[in-house]
Amino acid sequence: MPAAEILAIGDELLLGETVDTNAAWIAQRLAREGIAIIRKTTVGDDDTAIRDALAAALARTGVVLCTGGLGPTRDDLTRDAVARLYGREQHVDDGWMTVLRERYERRGIPMPEVNRVQALLPDGATLLHNPTGTAPGIAIEQVGVGLTVLMPGVPSEMRGLMEAHVVPLLLRRLHVARPIRSRMLRTAGISEAALAERIDDIALDLGPLSLAFLPQVASVDLRLTCRGDVADPDAVLARALDRLKERLGDCVYADDDTDLAVLVGRMLRSDGLTLALAESCTGGLVSKRLSDAAGASDFLLAAFVTYHNDAKRAFVGVRSETLAMHGAVSEQCAREMAEGARTAIGADVAAAITGIAGPGGGSDEKPVGTVWYAVALSPDVAGRLGHDDPFITRKFVHPGDRSDIRERAGQTALDMLRRALTSQHSVPHP
Ligand code: AMP
Ligand code: MG
Repeated sequence: MPAAEILAIGDELLLGETVDTNAAWIAQRLAREGIAIIRKTTVGDDDTAIRDALAAALARTGVVLCTGGLGPTRDDLTRDAVARLYGREQHVDDGWMTVLRERYERRGIPMPEVNRVQALLPDGATLLHNPTGTAPGIAIEQVGVGLTVLMPGVPSEMRGLMEAHVVPLLLRRLHVARPIRSRMLRTAGISEAALAERIDDIALDLGPLSLAFLPQVASVDLRLTCRGDVADPDAVLARALDRLKERLGDCVYADDDTDLAVLVGRMLRSDGLTLALAESCTGGLVSKRLSDAAGASDFLLAAFVTYHNDAKRAFVGVRSETLAMHGAVSEQCAREMAEGARTAIGADVAAAITGIAGPGGGSDEKPVGTVWYAVALSPDVAGRLGHDDPFITRKFVHPGDRSDIRERAGQTALDMLRRALTSQHSVPHP
């Protein structure tokens, strides 16, 4: 696999004031192109440190992407350090000087003298146009030394340069067969490990396609990519996608980038059904996700965020005996919350979530991450969708910290709704 290294430059990175998000973004972006980042180095704004780190990276890998230290002030040393390492003089790039002058003219202010250094370019280097910032990108290459690309540290400027110039340059330079096409499958209610096991034999038999697992906090997506010289790549992808869909059955909810909440909204709208929610540990997350898209009032009637036991009693009719006997994190409470929310507003369907998001509040019997879910259907809708029982309840013990558990709980509730609304309904597996 073609390889490159990243050199992140800036005192603020070493001090921990700025988190190096650039390196993470670049690595993910290049992985999509089949280019591996095999080492990341961070140095401060220090001439010797920059040169040493760059020389070592070039000796190892021959292709290095640098970010940071291209500003106009004295502490921005990257360009000078790199020019020295490559043994190049620098000259004023007239084209970029004109761009800078015009930018300042348009803003009605004279160009500060310090910005002139940003039009300096090492001899023989290529200037990469930066549409939003004053520092251009720079690519410099020498046989026997290797290729270095300099980009500004500002994340949006770096991303713009990567997309417009650096990714195409690397694909050419590293002779990567450009991905021709890729397709996505989104799954819910199945872990990455279980997913991998279930499709292991298919994954080994994909011919010219490569399969990537893209795990997020609360779900796993699969991406099939077709590279190189393949006749009719669309058909090859579609066949592989069908095999995966057939194997994974109801764990697949989309074969494009549709969000699960958008899908559930779409199902409710097309069936003409209304929804109520009773959320405890998710604090309104499911309601938020369902109402992110405009027009949610077509189906979402109300969402009760019943955090305290008093609210579970007062707004969604959970019985005091239930709370006393089973506690708030129990199947019985989830079921009463769902039915209470549904009947309070006369909805066709309701979902309820009650759990322990942590970090405190766990016990041996109910550890942090324990979440009970319930879906309640009106008798009419249950009959129409072929459910014998108008209640569907599940318990999961989700891993992760508070934020992970809440995100997983929101996704699980949406997945239970999706499955309940599918006529050959199913439930997610722990
Ligand atoms: P510079 O190009 O070094 O002048 O950096 C400009 C700004 O970009 C800095 O003030 C940081 O806030 C940000 N920045 C620099 N390097 C990085 C990085 N590796 N990841 C994220 N942000 C960065
Ligand atoms: Mg800096």
